[in-house]
Amino acid sequence: MEIKPISLEALKPHSEQPDCGRGHACQFCPQEPECQLDKPRHEKLLIESRLAHIGQIILVMANKGGVGKSTVSANLAAGLAAQGHRVGVADADVHGPNQSRFFGFVGSHVRLSAQGLGVCRFQPASITHPIKLGTLAFLMEKDDTPIVWRDSYKHDFMHHLIGSFEWGELDYLVVDMPPGTGNELITLSDMLEGANVSALLVTTPQEVALMDSLKAVRFCQERGMPILGVVENMSGVVCPHCQGEFHLFPRGSLVQRLEEAGVKALAQLPLDPELARGSDEGMPDVLGRPLGPIAQALAPAIEACVRHAHANTVESALHSLQGALQENLASDELDAALQGIPDDQREAVRAALGQLLESEQQRLAASAKEDK
Ligand code: ADP
Repeated sequence: MEIKPISLEALKPHSEQPDCGRGHACQFCPQEPECQLDKPRHEKLLIESRLAHIGQIILVMANKGGVGKSTVSANLAAGLAAQGHRVGVADADVHGPNQSRFFGFVGSHVRLSAQGLGVCRFQPASITHPIKLGTLAFLMEKDDTPIVWRDSYKHDFMHHLIGSFEWGELDYLVVDMPPGTGNELITLSDMLEGANVSALLVTTPQEVALMDSLKAVRFCQERGMPILGVVENMSGVVCPHCQGEFHLFPRGSLVQRLEEAGVKALAQLPLDPELARGSDEGMPDVLGRPLGPIAQALAPAIEACVRHAHANTVESALHSLQGALQENLASDELDAALQGIPDDQREAVRAALGQLLESEQQRLAASAKEDK
């Protein structure tokens, strides 16, 4: 019988083991079969290190397939990029990964390096930072291969999507979620616990969409995930001949019921053949027609994302200021800094500093309240 030598690394407690430092999951690693390091720990570190460089994560969710969730994700990302933000799009719709089409990368593949899986970069002249795109489509032989998944594969892919793609520094990562509130959503929200995550709902106006939309709302509320609001898609059609507007789908009380559940109606997008054409041709409509009807209709949803991210930034500044206020006013460093000040003025300066920090704290709190 062949006796395999035991590696010393395998005998160390997990917390003492070094990490290989590779920017991708063990599943992609050529050394995976012989590797003795702690693999779950590596994957956890990978996700943490990616998330540390991402400002705000927006999960774009829909009650059903085909309601325009991917279209809204792509145009939301493009609208944020048009304002100069650094944006990524993670295509988590494992059954129908369409984002490669929406950004003109059909058939593209990405390279694996020690830093991770490459992303495709979409950069028309009108945006300063490229939109970084990560999708399962880049890992498949052919774009039209049907995907049949076991739950464990879906779970793995959600980890690869966030942890293995080279997202770099991002202000926003827009995640195009699979429809519904199934396993993928649960996996992803578990994985993103503690990060700045919010949800944007996309729905069509029919009454039949209501129950599913409310399910998504309940899911977010139970998880404590802020909901930015709802985008009602295909909410009307403008007649190309008479310019009159009519509604293809019966408009139920959907928006009103969602508002009763505490979800704001942010935008209503009409059915527009130009929007579908832009998606098919790989140019998000808000960039193709920056002053067009879709760009205008989607603007409040883009604004809501920016306001929410701003409120988050202000809130964390507020927390650090609170810390500073409590700790630093009594700290040795401040005492040392105040040594140069005459004895009789030292306490007055300390009090003035306290007031300064307090008024800055109040200003930030007011600004955070405005953003909410
Ligand atoms: P989902 O991600 O919800 O499955 P998609 O965004 O892929 O839906 O949209 C499905 C199809 O409908 C796509 O061909 C898309 O171009 C088209 N579409 C979505 N919204 C609109 C709209 N407002 N006007 C015209 N076509 C649309």
